[in-house]
This record gives sequence, structure tokens and C-alpha cells, in this order.
Amino acid sequence: MWIRGKAYVNNEIREVCISFDRRIKEIKSLCKPDVTLPQGTLILPGAIDLHTHIRGLKLAYKEDVISGTSEASYGGITLLGDMPNTMPVVNTVEIINTKLKEFEYYSRVDYFIYSGVTKEFEKVEKTPIAGYKIFPEDLEKEETYRVLKSKKLKVLHPEVPLALRGNRKLRLNIWYEIGALFYVKDYERVHITHATNLTTVKLARELGFSVDLTPHHLLVNGESDCLSKVNPPIRSINERLWLLQAINEVDTIVSDHAPHAKFEKAQPYEICPPGIAAISFTVPFVFTLVNKGIIGLDRAIDLISRNPARILGIPYGEIKENNYANFTVIQFKNWRYSTKYSKVTETPLDQYPLEASVYMTIVQGKVSNLEGEVFPVKGINPFGENRDD
Ligand SMILES: [Zn+2]
Repeated sequence: MWIRGKAYVNNEIREVCISFDRRIKEIKSLCKPDVTLPQGTLILPGAIDLHTHIRGLKLAYKEDVISGTSEASYGGITLLGDMPNTMPVVNTVEIINTKLKEFEYYSRVDYFIYSGVTKEFEKVEKTPIAGYKIFPEDLEKEETYRVLKSKKLKVLHPEVPLALRGNRKLRLNIWYEIGALFYVKDYERVHITHATNLTTVKLARELGFSVDLTPHHLLVNGESDCLSKVNPPIRSINERLWLLQAINEVDTIVSDHAPHAKFEKAQPYEICPPGIAAISFTVPFVFTLVNKGIIGLDRAIDLISRNPARILGIPYGEIKENNYANFTVIQFKNWRYSTKYSKVTETPLDQYPLEASVYMTIVQGKVSNLEGEVFPVKGINPFGENRDD
């Protein structure tokens, strides 16, 4: 099929025709298009979210693969990485296969999964996972240091194990976060996720790691109730202002979409579970920053597409021949944020004024979302493709 529209190709915006099936076949300036995109829309390489919790399995009451990936598609995310802290935990060959099947049947966007730290490293290493997630408590486990030697990606939640034990107020100390980087400093292909402050970002880069931040660590005004309770915690206004600078230094922006049921978030603050679920916020937010002139278009594409594709080492992130035909089509318009398909209907980012929205999401050459209506297309696991050749 041929589509025509304004697209970001070879580092510039131009009017092009793109032909694709599951992969991009040809890009040229003239054609008889099957679909012409309306004026004011912009075709971008499909957005990628390296850090989400789509839940499912026994936690499907919080979010399931259909609701979570529909919300992703609504937000222009064409590929997402799912974290292993589910019930049961994803860190054995058996549960990895169960989890992948759940995505294969129900995911509306492309997906990949991380294993947790595991005692069956040799076996898990051969499965089609993207890499491993290392949680603070794992930094005290022997098996973590075997996992860290894997050539696959290792994503670190940077907080020292001590942060899990004391009073939550102590956890506000950013050194609990910064200190965690020293545990993994001798290893390759480590990615530091949800940096909450500029020192973490700078140190991560000095140590040769890739690094991301979340919109909520920039925008949410302190931890005031269960809705804004998240780990690592939201920092002080000063730290958050410094973090704004990091928008030009981090590799990517992730949502850390972490849904919980309404009754769980309604528990008293001290015992309620941490997590903010706003996967559909990231892309409109990044292009709001473009519209405001805070970052350029090249930087925005780096943040949501090009850099995460490079970190993963897969053919996404640019509109060029032979890459997967995943596109995020945006338009600039004013609206206020809320979720649409997630089981979570309340987030601290609700009503945030945005200046860009997702017009269309294309996954594997098929329309997955058109103006907010999500269709049951099937995503793939790029780490499971052509595994035998
Ligand atoms: Zn997370």
C-alpha cells in the first residue's frame, strides 16, 4: 500500500509517498496513493517505550494486554517493553513462554519482554527476550552478577537496596538513587531507567550507560497522595527544574506505565502501591515540547524513536527501506490529557494541557489506531522474528 503525506525522512520533513507491507518497501516523491493523510498531520517513525508494566497473567485485574496495548496505540506507541514483576514473576522459560503467548494473542502493538534476574540464566538467555530488568533488591543477589554479564540489554531501576528498608522519607534522598549506579559500573549494555535528577543522568553517561526519564518525574508536583506515589519518588521542585535540562541529555523518555486497581490506590497512603499509568502521555508531551520550541524535531525523534531502536539494536526508529512499517502520525492541536483504554482512569497527569495529539498509529503496516479508535491488529516480538536463520 502507498500512503502520501508529510513525513520525517532523512532528518527532514518532506512530502513523500511511502510503500509498505509489514516492512517499508520504497520511498519516493510521486505516486498514486491508496491513502493521503490530511493537511496538518506528520508521519514519524513509530514511537517506542522501553519501560512499561502491561501486567496481565494474575494481575490482569490491574491491566491486561488488550487494555494496556490499546492505550499504547492510542498514545502512538508502536513497540513497548514489558517488565517482569508480574504474578507469577517472569524469570523462567515456562513463564516467559506463557507471557509471550499472551502478547502474541492480544497485543495491539509490537512488544518485547524482559526477564527478571534468574537462577536459570543459561536457559533463559536462549529465549526470545530483549534483556533483563534489575530491581533494587536484586543488587544483593549473587545471580544478578551473572545476568549482568549477558550481552543482552540490562535495565536497572536505580535505587540501593537500603532504600527499600527505611522510612519512605529517607528514600527522597537522591543519593540512594545515584549510589545504585556503582553496583553495575563494570558491566556493558546497562540502561538506567527513570532517572529522577540531573546527577543520575550525568553519571550514567560518564559510566557509558544509556539513560531515560519519565514525564511524571518532570511534571508531577511532589508526592502528595497515593495517586502521585511512585518509585523512585518524585523529587523536590529544584531537582525537577534541573532535570528539565536533562531532556537534551537523556537517550529516551519512557512512561513506566504502572497500573493498579482503583481499590488498591484508594488504600491509605502508607500501604498503597506505587505507580503512575500514563503510557499515552509521552508522545503528545514530547511534541508539545516541540511546539513550544523547547526541543527541536530531531531531538524529539531521537527521544521517542531513534535512540530506543538503537539501544535495542532492531530495525525501527527511522523511516527507511526494510525497516518495519511502524509509524506514529501526529497533529498539533490543543487538548487536555486523560487515558482512554487503560483500566486506570485516574492519573496525576490528567487535564495536563497538551499541544499535540496522535492522529494515527500504524503497526506492522496496519492501522492500529485512527483518531483515537483502536483496532485489533496483531503486534509482533521483534526478538522472536527469524530466530533460526
Ligand atoms: Zn517500572
